[in-house]
Amino acid sequence: MSGPRPVRAARGTELSTRGWQQEAALRMLQNNLDPEVAEHPDKLVVYGGTGKAARDWRSYDAMVRTLQTLKQDETMLVQSGRPVGVMQTHEWAPRVLIANSNLVGDWANWEEFRRLEALGLTMYGQMTAGSWIYIGTQGILQGTYETFSAVAAKKFGGTLAGTITLTAGLGGMGGAQPLAVTMNDGVALCIDCDPRAIDRRIEHRYLDVKADSLDHALQLAVEARDARRPLSIGVLGNAAELVPQLLAMNAPIDIVTDQTSAHDPLAYLPVGIDFDDMADYAAEKPADFTTRARESMARHVEAMVGFQDAGAEVFDYGNSIRGEAQLAGYTRAFDFPGFVPAYIRPLFCEGKGPFRWAALSGDPKDIAATDKAMLDLFPENESLARWIKMAGERVHFQGLPARICWLGYGERDKAGERFNEMVADGTLQAPLAIGRDHLDCGSVASPYRETEAMLDGSDAIADWPLLNAMVNVASGASWVSLHHGGGVGMGRSIHAGQVTVADGTALAGEKIRRVLTNDPGMGVIRHVDAGYDIAESVAEDRGVRVPMREE
Ligand code: NAD
Repeated sequence: MSGPRPVRAARGTELSTRGWQQEAALRMLQNNLDPEVAEHPDKLVVYGGTGKAARDWRSYDAMVRTLQTLKQDETMLVQSGRPVGVMQTHEWAPRVLIANSNLVGDWANWEEFRRLEALGLTMYGQMTAGSWIYIGTQGILQGTYETFSAVAAKKFGGTLAGTITLTAGLGGMGGAQPLAVTMNDGVALCIDCDPRAIDRRIEHRYLDVKADSLDHALQLAVEARDARRPLSIGVLGNAAELVPQLLAMNAPIDIVTDQTSAHDPLAYLPVGIDFDDMADYAAEKPADFTTRARESMARHVEAMVGFQDAGAEVFDYGNSIRGEAQLAGYTRAFDFPGFVPAYIRPLFCEGKGPFRWAALSGDPKDIAATDKAMLDLFPENESLARWIKMAGERVHFQGLPARICWLGYGERDKAGERFNEMVADGTLQAPLAIGRDHLDCGSVASPYRETEAMLDGSDAIADWPLLNAMVNVASGASWVSLHHGGGVGMGRSIHAGQVTVADGTALAGEKIRRVLTNDPGMGVIRHVDAGYDIAESVAEDRGVRVPMREE
């Protein structure tokens, strides 16, 4: 078989592989492609524009076959979504090593990438698509929720009640925005040009209602705002038209951001092209499409700057729209900040980031049990308790049940070891895959996002993600990935990820302790090195060794 077909991971405890480490990799690969999880599963596209889990269906079949026969002392090597070798290693080594979308510096642009992709030589792995730890829109929900909480704390007295947030993009990640805003008691007005994306978010309960027109959307938003009632509203249209229109109407918008797929100019709909013609146009005239998309992004960003001039809180939400607008000649594109320097960096200094786990049993009861364990483990952490409670009530699982929870240095290992004990003593029905987004504290170099405006100017230093991947391999992760171009596009980021399986064995416990200490430890040392005081005190208090501070 080598064509599109529905894919779904097995549930339960029966293995089709030689061990849980391999089984976890297989199930998570398949889970990424589950139609409930992936945005365009027939094209192997999971999320984030064209972020794929496998290069083509033949490669997918070969990966499944290989994982099913892979031994405990073997490692499968994946080069941009295609399995290219099996090497004899040892039981502490990862079962899978993945390198996706990497290009040599001078060649690291979309044009060259697409030339190579058309030759069948590479694929775009985004962050968690090609590394098999995407868990649906929930994966970004807590981070988005925390970001909007930080906005509320900074400017609106700790709540978004009585405010209107304007954004665009209701895709795999962007779809978390409406729920994150309403979880903070605000009103969200969300534009998308794809009616399917709007309907999908309503179906998954991330979005409340769909408006008939822009006027209708604004009317609903103002009514809800005046009643201080949380509400999220989807409206169909092109953000490059509707955002400037709202500005011209003097719409009472308090917060503006955006999560269209701007990182990839072939995934952003230019003004003047019908959504239905978008894919064909992009395929037939990529250069023309790119120019027009960038021009539209310039108009979109210009309107965002206009809202900022009018007093709104405006930030870039990690899709590189400022960079694209600048390429189109708009000079004020960087007048508003990215969300990391604006709200997230202090968390990174503590080694905090989007820790997540998936229940390989497929049973939501396993996630409920881990939720409870988290509350027992960290009773003093109020925001975590609030999040776990809300997530338990409001998050619709996509594919294998999973949970995300931002945890820091000294916390992730504790949670992981407890989960492993719960597998061992039968509290959980099957093992857990424990991983994270590549968007983490010490795993990325991305000057338009995670490493924007570093204190010491080290934004573009890419040694850190390489060290991060190496330390995870050396510490016993189950699979490790090293990608280029995720989040913000080709030439703009290098990032690494790991997944470690809690299968209830003592060996897994040893690996988990090391990986889940060292991985967030990279965030602490990266920020100590850049001169952040918070990171220095975390290192001091929690015993992270930094040789240059030991003189
Ligand atoms: P996606 O491809 O699943 O969705 C993008 C959506 O944008 C689609 O629904 C598409 O119809 C819509 N869109 C495209 N052009 C538009 C236009 N002109 N007007 C209105 N809607 C338009 O992508 P995603 O996974 O949701 O990711 C969105 C962006 O956010 C990407 O650039 C991604 O790299 C970035 N991202 C940010 C974070 C973060 O933490 N901030 C995390 C992951 C991804």
